[in-house]
Amino acid sequence: MTRPSTGGRIEVICGCMYSGKTEELIRRMRQVMIARQSCRIFTPRMDTRYSVGHIASHTGAKLEAEPVNSMQEIIRKSDDVHVIAIDELHFLEDDPTAVLIGCQSLADRGLRVIIAGLDQNYRAEPFPGMMQLMAVAEQVDKLYAICVHCGAYATRSQRLINGSPAPADAATLLVGGLELYEARCRSCYEPAR
Ligand SMILES: [Zn+2]
Repeated sequence: MTRPSTGGRIEVICGCMYSGKTEELIRRMRQVMIARQSCRIFTPRMDTRYSVGHIASHTGAKLEAEPVNSMQEIIRKSDDVHVIAIDELHFLEDDPTAVLIGCQSLADRGLRVIIAGLDQNYRAEPFPGMMQLMAVAEQVDKLYAICVHCGAYATRSQRLINGSPAPADAATLLVGGLELYEARCRSCYEPAR
């Protein structure tokens, strides 16, 4: 006999800067709200690119979100909801394995867990937390930006300092917008040195 589905699942929306990850997360959460499913949206406290208490896409779409510091905090605040979303997961300063176990336990409890975040850092290395979640997710959507140099699909986030690639030993996480990052394809990406 097959067991009834609890509906629990993990969805990962990943890609480089300007690929529309937050826009897609907001689109899915609006549908959840229209269907009157109980939900909560979290954002790592470190991402202060826009305003605290909101997630916002580069195109201006905006939803309320709760700033959090850890997976534990997310689990504590997810007791009575059907759907949770975490935007900019790569900014969550927590152990990647704790994040993986936490998201798995929420999905096992029947929650729909929607994650958005960068899949690679500015050195084009995978973010461990995102990498692990992609492996166990029911659904992974990799979004693309357009390379500002050649117009091909961009998969990498080029960090620039005065127009030159940032050094390889700079901080992995640095909040910034168009003044600091460009979307580039594999051929136009210049490795950090
Ligand atoms: Zn290119």
